[in-house]
Amino acid sequence: MAHTIKPLVAGNWKMNGTTANLKEPRLLAGMLRDVKLKCDVMVCPPATLIRRVKAVMRGSKIKAGGQDCHAAVSGAHTGDISADMLKDAGATAVIVGHSERRTNHKETDAMVAAKALAAHKVGLTAIICIGETLDERKGGKTLEVLTSQIKGSIPAGCTAANTVVAYEPVWAIGTGLTPTVAEITEAHAHIRKELSGVMGAEGASTRILYGGSVKPTNAAELMAVANVNGALVGGASLKAVDFIGIIKAYI
Ligand code: PEP
Repeated sequence: MAHTIKPLVAGNWKMNGTTANLKEPRLLAGMLRDVKLKCDVMVCPPATLIRRVKAVMRGSKIKAGGQDCHAAVSGAHTGDISADMLKDAGATAVIVGHSERRTNHKETDAMVAAKALAAHKVGLTAIICIGETLDERKGGKTLEVLTSQIKGSIPAGCTAANTVVAYEPVWAIGTGLTPTVAEITEAHAHIRKELSGVMGAEGASTRILYGGSVKPTNAAELMAVANVNGALVGGASLKAVDFIGIIKAYI
């Protein structure tokens, strides 16, 4: 049941971060050292920093994740990174199907499902992103789009342990805009129902994150919505003081 799900607050640094930014996860780990958390916390830095982010957070329970992986195990894919490489660097999870990947790299649902499978094969949790565009919302197509993304992007073999779904309305990402509580309630209830269709009983305990302009000022309200089991945070995850303000929704 939803109330037994341990939430996850995951930070997606996107293409931000060099050595100078390592002070932030170090600070975050220090801030959380003596805090009894009711959620899991994860940082997804660029792949170049995963190992070093893990090193500066040593001794803390904060996990590290990747932002994308290739569907193949290895081979002639210049510039790409495999799930196994992320795992080798210290990641326990990988985001797949982020809307920026779907848009900038023309990733289809089938490609996202293949990436999620690749993650599962090496033991990484797949954080599978879905969400409607503004046109789709205005056209009354939100639930239909979510259904088709769920059916297309969630491969066989997904369980509550190896899969997290992130609902990220494309128009809310990086814009400062968020859906209303009623809109999030409707979307997450719909996702929960559809997950049971594709995942069976596992769908009831799979984490569904909300993502899109989550900030310290709106986190408590958004995280209290039914079937919201945590947050995927972009901009506000870059600074430890902001990220902790969101994590505090679960302290
Ligand atoms: C994201 O990119 O996953 C995201 C939610 O970004 P932001 O929090 O900046 O809207």
